[in-house]
Amino acid sequence: MAAAALSRFLAGSGRRIVLIESEAIGTVGVGEGTIPPILEFNHQLGLDEAEFVRATHATYKLGIEFAGWTHEGERYFHQFGVIGRPLNGIPFHQLWLKHRAHRSVGPLAAYSMSATAAAHHRFAHSAKDPDEPLSQIAYAFHFDAAAYGQYLRRFAERFGAERIEGRIVEVEQDGETGFVTALRLDDDRRVRGDLFIDCSGFRSLLLGQTLGVPFEDWTHWLPCDRAVTVASARTDPLLPYTRSTAHPAGWQWRIPLQHRTGNGHVYSSAHMSDEDARTVLLDTLDSEPIAEPRLLRFKAGRRSRSWEANVVAMGLSAGFLEPLESTSIHLIQHAVQKLLGLFPGAAISPVERDEFNRAMIASYEPIRDFIILHYLANGRTEPFWKQVREMAVPDSLAHKIALFREHGRVFRYNEELFDVPSWVAVMLGQSIVPSGYDPLVDALPDAEVLRAMAELRSGYEQTALRLPLASDYIERTLSGDQ
Ligand SMILES: Cc1cc2nc3c(=O)[nH]c(=O)nc-3n(C[C@H](O)[C@H](O)[C@H](O)COP(=O)(O)OP(=O)(O)OC[C@H]3O[C@@H](n4cnc5c(N)ncnc54)[C@H](O)[C@@H]3O)c2cc1C
Repeated sequence: MAAAALSRFLAGSGRRIVLIESEAIGTVGVGEGTIPPILEFNHQLGLDEAEFVRATHATYKLGIEFAGWTHEGERYFHQFGVIGRPLNGIPFHQLWLKHRAHRSVGPLAAYSMSATAAAHHRFAHSAKDPDEPLSQIAYAFHFDAAAYGQYLRRFAERFGAERIEGRIVEVEQDGETGFVTALRLDDDRRVRGDLFIDCSGFRSLLLGQTLGVPFEDWTHWLPCDRAVTVASARTDPLLPYTRSTAHPAGWQWRIPLQHRTGNGHVYSSAHMSDEDARTVLLDTLDSEPIAEPRLLRFKAGRRSRSWEANVVAMGLSAGFLEPLESTSIHLIQHAVQKLLGLFPGAAISPVERDEFNRAMIASYEPIRDFIILHYLANGRTEPFWKQVREMAVPDSLAHKIALFREHGRVFRYNEELFDVPSWVAVMLGQSIVPSGYDPLVDALPDAEVLRAMAELRSGYEQTALRLPLASDYIERTLSGDQ
C-alpha cells in the first residue's frame, strides 16, 4: 500500500521508490476484512473496482454480525453507514430510544440500509438520489490480503517503483544522528536511502529493533494474544458481512471470499491452550477446512512514535489491534495518507514529524477504545469474560460510556475513525442502554415520529428485497455487467 501510493503520487518528482520484500520471510498472511474508507484509498490510486474485485477475490461487506457477545445465542449487527434519518435535527437513535417499546418499532438495525440488505444477503451500489433509501448503503470489502499486496506491487512497479527480492540482514546508521543510511541484504547488496518506510511486520526491524522506539503494551485492556486461523470451503448463500462469534476465551471471525471462507479464532493464551483453541475453531467451521490451521502470536499496543529519525513505520511494525473491527489495513492507509500530507523536503522537519506522530496516536487510541467497548458489557460466565467485564478502562472510554448512559448521547471527537452510528450500534448491541433519551424528542408529536419511523423501516425493507443477492452481484461485477 505504501509503495503503491508513494510511487503513484511521487512519480515525476525525482524521488526513487524501492520496495524490499523477502519471499523467504513472507507476510503475516492474514487480514481479510476492511472498512469503507478503503474505497477512498483505492479511488485515490485510480483502481478500477471490478478489476480490484477480480484480482483480490473480493466480496462486498456491509458490516459485522456479533454473535454471543452479550449472552450465548444473542446477536447484533454493526452496520456500515448511518442509521435512519434525523428528524428536526435530532439523531435518529434518539427517536428509537424513546419509542423502542412500541410494537411497531422493532430493532435498531431495521433502520439501516446496510444492515437490512445484509439480513437478506443482498447488495447493490448506492443510489445517487439522496432521498432513496439505497443512497444510505455503505460498504467495504472482504479480500485476500496477499492478492491485494501482489496487485499493488504490480501497480507500484507500473509507476516506477523498483522491487528487490532479498532479506535485510543489517541496518546501517549515521554515527552522529542515528539516521538510517542503508540496508544490507543477505546477498551483500546495499540499498541506500533518505527516508525508510518500515513495513517489516511484527519484527519492526527499523523502528523497534534498530531505533529502539518502545512498545506501549495494551494487553491489560486487550488480553487476546494469539490466533489460530484456517481457510475453509466457500458456502452459499454468500453472506455480505463478517461474522464474529464469541467463544469461552475470545472470538472467531468468519469472512466469506469468492473462492473460500477465512476463519480465525482469536484468544487469550492465559485462558485457553493452543490445542483447545484449535479444536474450538475446527469444531465450529461451517464448511470443510482446505488448509492446515496456523498459529499466530501478537500483542496489542503500539510503538510510542511511528516516525523516528528518518524511519516511518506502518502496519504491524507500528502497532497492532486485534482484527475485531478490521482496522489494521485502515491504519496503514491512514499512515500512508498522512505521510503524503506531510512528505518531507530535503531535510526532515521535526514539527512535521511530530504532527505525523500526533495524528497516528489520535487515530490508534479511539479505535483501541472502540474495540475494548465490545468486551465490557458482556453477560458471559467464563473467567476470560469475567476479567474483561471487570477491568478498568481508559478514561476516554469511561467518559463515552457514562455520557451515553445518561441520554444516549455520543459525539465524534477530532480524528476518530468510528462515527456516532457505529458507537450507538455497539453500545446498544452490548446492552449498554441509556437511562433516558434526548429531551428534545418530546417536542415532536409521538404519532408523527412513529409514522416517520414506520415509513423509513418499510423503505429499507422494500428496497433490500429488490436488490440482487450479493453472490449474483459479484458475478455481474466479474463479468463486467455492473
Ligand atoms: C490474526 C490477524 C488477523 C488480522 N485480520 C485483519 C483484518 O481482518 N483486517 C485488517 O485490516 N487487518 C487485519 N490484520 C492485520 C493485517 O494482517 C496487517 O495489518 C497487514 O497484513 C499488514 O501487515 P504488514 O505489512 O505490516 O506486515 P507483514 O504482512 O508481516 O509484512 C512484512 C513484510 O516485511 C518483509 N520483511 C520482514 N523482515 C524482513 C527482512 N529482514 N528483510 C526483507 N523483508 C522483510 C516481509 O517479507 C513482508 O513482506 C490481522 C492481523 C492478524 C495477526
